Amino acid sequence: MLPIYVMYDSGLDELERDAISDAIQKIKVMVTGLEIRNYGSAAWSTGAYSSADWYIQHTEIVHGNYGGTQLNADSLIDLVAGEPWRGNDPHIDIVVTSYDITALDDGKQLNFVFGLADFGKGVSIQSVFRFRGYSDLERFLAIETLIWHELGHILGMAADPRRPHTEEKLGRHCTNYGCVMRQGMSVPEWIEHARDAWQAGQIYCPECISDAFVPAH
Ligand SMILES: [Zn+2]
Ligand SMILES: [Zn+2]
Repeated sequence: MLPIYVMYDSGLDELERDAISDAIQKIKVMVTGLEIRNYGSAAWSTGAYSSADWYIQHTEIVHGNYGGTQLNADSLIDLVAGEPWRGNDPHIDIVVTSYDITALDDGKQLNFVFGLADFGKGVSIQSVFRFRGYSDLERFLAIETLIWHELGHILGMAADPRRPHTEEKLGRHCTNYGCVMRQGMSVPEWIEHARDAWQAGQIYCPECISDAFVPAH
């Protein structure tokens, strides 16, 4: 298992930053041996490829279907995958941005995406933009869920189509109530799933937990 590095741009507010560190702390307690480091928005070096802000500044900007400005998530993934640090220090990057992001699906530009991951390249991009305007509790839960959901994908949760209670919805996802590995196709749906998991008092359902921690046979 490669170490996971989390970084975010300087546009995140305090609640958004707190939600990310809280999510990381909770997962560290749950999953022993998981190496996950939160670099935040600080620069870890100088010059090119040295902070989340640098990546954002060098990402292609697109003018969204509804007239807003968005980042091209594919371009951001390629930029991060091309960083020079990876040769000596192989790892997975999770980049959280305050900007709205979009991506192509079958050559068509989507209105927006919460996130986009390419685990072959070892990069996951997530945006908190669409949760702004919701209550503090809802935003906090939605962002924690975003981080846990991506970590779940990295750990291989709900990935096996032979497993019951999974479905294909922009990738393989869990269908169990109260599990953060469910797929949300809209902001209200994402927030509802985050609330369900919180009310159920769990992060991952038992099936997703055994996907990640029971060796395949
Ligand atoms: Zn997913
Ligand atoms: Zn699950």
